[in-house]
Amino acid sequence: MEKSKKKKYVVEPERKVEVAEEADVVVIGGGPGGFPAAIAAARQGCKTLIVERYGLFGGLATTGLMGPIFGFAWGDPKKSILGGIPLEVIRGLQKIGGALDDKNIRWDSIRFDPELLKHVIDGMLLEAGVKILLHSLAVGIAKQGDRIDSVILENKSGRMAVRGKVFIDATGDGDLGYWAGCAYTKGRPADGRMQSMGTKFRIGGVEPMTDEEEKYYAGIVKKAMDEKKIPAYHAFFEEISENGVTLRKGEITPTVTRCPGDATNVYDLTRAELKIRKDTLEIVDFYRKNVKGYKNCYLIDTPVQMGIRETRQILGGYVLNGADVMEGRRFPDKIARGCWFMDIHCPLGLWSSKSNLCSQKCAIEPPCIMKQKYYDQLYPETCPPAGSYYDIPYRCIVPEGTGNLLVSGRPISADHGGMSSARVIGTCMAIGEAAGIAAYLASSENKTPKVVVAGDIQKILEKNGVPL
Ligand SMILES: Cc1cc2nc3c(=O)[nH]c(=O)nc-3n(C[C@H](O)[C@H](O)[C@H](O)COP(=O)(O)OP(=O)(O)OC[C@H]3O[C@@H](n4cnc5c(N)ncnc54)[C@H](O)[C@@H]3O)c2cc1C
Repeated sequence: MEKSKKKKYVVEPERKVEVAEEADVVVIGGGPGGFPAAIAAARQGCKTLIVERYGLFGGLATTGLMGPIFGFAWGDPKKSILGGIPLEVIRGLQKIGGALDDKNIRWDSIRFDPELLKHVIDGMLLEAGVKILLHSLAVGIAKQGDRIDSVILENKSGRMAVRGKVFIDATGDGDLGYWAGCAYTKGRPADGRMQSMGTKFRIGGVEPMTDEEEKYYAGIVKKAMDEKKIPAYHAFFEEISENGVTLRKGEITPTVTRCPGDATNVYDLTRAELKIRKDTLEIVDFYRKNVKGYKNCYLIDTPVQMGIRETRQILGGYVLNGADVMEGRRFPDKIARGCWFMDIHCPLGLWSSKSNLCSQKCAIEPPCIMKQKYYDQLYPETCPPAGSYYDIPYRCIVPEGTGNLLVSGRPISADHGGMSSARVIGTCMAIGEAAGIAAYLASSENKTPKVVVAGDIQKILEKNGVPL
């Protein structure tokens, strides 16, 4: 029998950490859930600080090359549900050529240039008067009773603390909530497995093909997928859904890679980065050799970091679930709208050419535990009826147990089915704006977020052009 390896430890020396910044509202994480929160709070007059571990904002929408942005009622491309800051972002992109004009834009699939998105976000944060700290990784918190007193950062200047009246956890993984000891869930109820990680990548030199050619080459790609000759979960061509983060002719950004694992485990993350980078090259090589329109294609870039679909969901007073998405449920304490379908990528990282999402219709053999035991009762369908959208209740962003914390973006209180829809960029930005307003109300009235009245948030959001 293998001997269990004894863990070894070192004791970190205790040290005093300087409080480098004090603010009313401190936002940790500058992705779709974070930057709108900081802008919204600062515009209300709060002294606001935003902290981001990379040198740029946008989270997975820039560092991960994720997109397009979905800003419509499901199945109804003409019915936009975007307003407030998310819409301002699109308008800002349009002004500098980073998104298509109103004649050509598709609200169900808003393509954009991630490079220009960085500039739009920088401009909006600066204009709102947000204090910015880039290249700063939050590594822990100091608590006083049930309140977070400060967040500890590591950066090139050393270790520093930032103090706030209200904190917003927009880290994508619920890092602050986790450190604060908030209750959370991870993954699907049957076995805790989370949606697989994955990336987009950008290729250029793609030439258009006719419909017949696409059909023919799709057959070739699908056969290779089923025979496990290429590590891709679907066949891609130059279609709108694959042009999410590029507006340039001959360029596409496919989402076809997968790796299972827990993205809060650094060993899984490391494995995923290395696997998917290798898979990407194999996929591009296969297309170059086997698909007509791709014979001259080349890999432009892979993302700065692995795409993470699901990790911790910090529990709040309500858990958004798959039925809420499917039934377009409304809530009196609504603070944002969601529109996407239940987009669950196989937590085992598997695929078949007949289906690539985790659902009752999954064709992967042998069937996994979800299909056998749970799927039929939980999610018999994954697409809501056409024209529908649902509300995100305020209770989903207020964690139980920590006095001055709000959660924004992907890690809100939601189950595996609910979060698979609410995790998209447009919804995360809308949640972010609402979190910023809630933080303003809490900090200016010296209240905890829990006692902030949702109706007061709604009034300000509606005044700011947010459709509720
Ligand atoms: C493969 C894949 C494809 C996708 N495709 C689409 C798509 O086509 N359309 C769509 O709308 N959505 C898509 N998504 C989903 C979407 O990109 C994310 O769910 C969304 O970006 C989540 O926003 P967020 O702000 O919660 O998290 P993130 O985008 O992850 O942003 C979190 C930010 O916090 C920072 N951060 C994290 N931890 C710390 C820390 N400790 N200290 C300081 N900073 C920290 C990060 O650097 C990052 O900037 C896709 C996701 C994946 C994985």
